[in-house]
Amino acid sequence: MSGLGKSTLINSLFLTDLYSAEYPGPSHRIKKTVQVEQSKVLIKEGGVQLLLTIVDTPGFGDAVDNSNCWQPIIDHIDSKFEDYLNSESRVNRRQMPDSRIHCCLYFIAPSGHGLKPLDIEFMKRLHEKVNVIPLIAKADTLTPEECQQFKKQIMREIQEHKIKIYEFPETDDEEENRLVKKIKDKLPLAVVGSNTIIEVNSKRVRGRQYPWGVAEVENSDHCDFTILRDMLIRTHMQDLKDVTNNVHYENYRSRKLAAVTYNGVDNNRAKGQLCTKSPLAQMEEERREHVTKMKKMEMEMEQVFEMKVKEKVQKLKDSEAELQRRHEQMKKNLEAQHKELEEKRRVFEEERANWEVQQRLEQQKLEASRTLEKNKKKGKIF
Ligand code: GDP
Repeated sequence: MSGLGKSTLINSLFLTDLYSAEYPGPSHRIKKTVQVEQSKVLIKEGGVQLLLTIVDTPGFGDAVDNSNCWQPIIDHIDSKFEDYLNSESRVNRRQMPDSRIHCCLYFIAPSGHGLKPLDIEFMKRLHEKVNVIPLIAKADTLTPEECQQFKKQIMREIQEHKIKIYEFPETDDEEENRLVKKIKDKLPLAVVGSNTIIEVNSKRVRGRQYPWGVAEVENSDHCDFTILRDMLIRTHMQDLKDVTNNVHYENYRSRKLAAVTYNGVDNNRAKGQLCTKSPLAQMEEERREHVTKMKKMEMEMEQVFEMKVKEKVQKLKDSEAELQRRHEQMKKNLEAQHKELEEKRRVFEEERANWEVQQRLEQQKLEASRTLEKNKKKGKIF
């Protein structure tokens, strides 16, 4: 939210005037929609040069309706993961730029009344994408007791809402563990920022001048600014990078992979919708789907085959019956013909027998008349 002292703190942290009268902090510019702005600072620590990229989100939480105002921030974090994923899959990986977001400093307004719903929502939306470090902004506006109470309340709410803020790692080193415990006990870190140098006990310090005294930025009795700066650019810089790479980036990568494989199988699924299934579970599901599909196809083929066999058997039966019918018909015809011929033969035989009888009679008659003739000639007959 504008006016929480973000620009001032960044200037104080890196001792740069990232924001100045010529280039004012985002809250002094006119636009109030959430946007993401990047600037780079080169800082030198013990002879080591470090190029830091600071991303600001002017306008966050300023609107009347803040629903989804975290989306441009999530998109920015994802786009950096995407860039890294793309450069990782290129052949020449030697000079891979790492512009992933390694840490998100979340400024909580010093209201003394705990977290606002927007604070909870924002941290919950981002805690699985980036290392979130909660800060109490403008801590000099609270008394030390109020600040202590406020810290406790915020940590209670963070636990209640299961918000996973950046976990400071425990190690085997006792010295380091003491430091980590010291930082953990102070969470959320209460910070004060200032661009003004004030003389305190003849020492020039960054601070905020009040009628009753000076709130010194780098005095650990006044606020947790030095703890924050040390952990960011010295003690925990590497761990912030490691967690980003091993946890947040890995999450992004596997979600992306799962989404790709799942979309491949089921194109009906809305594009961009992330799939929480692991690639192995995905493969198993695909295999099962394939087996079911094959079984179904096999069954269908068997059904078709059975149908065809039935059809063929029926056709054979039909033609067999037809043949049988024709055979019967022919048999009947032949029998009829046979009967007819038998009848003709019988008639013929009868005629022949008659005729033979007739002939024999004729013959007998003829012989009788011949004998009569002979006898007449011999005179035997009178
Ligand atoms: P930003 O919009 O979050 O970037 O806020 P700025 O850094 O521009 O600060 C907004 C106003 O708050 C300015 O008037 C600053 O002087 C003032 N301010 C910044 N940091 C602090 C702080 O730690 N304590 C107090 N009391 N005021 C601060």
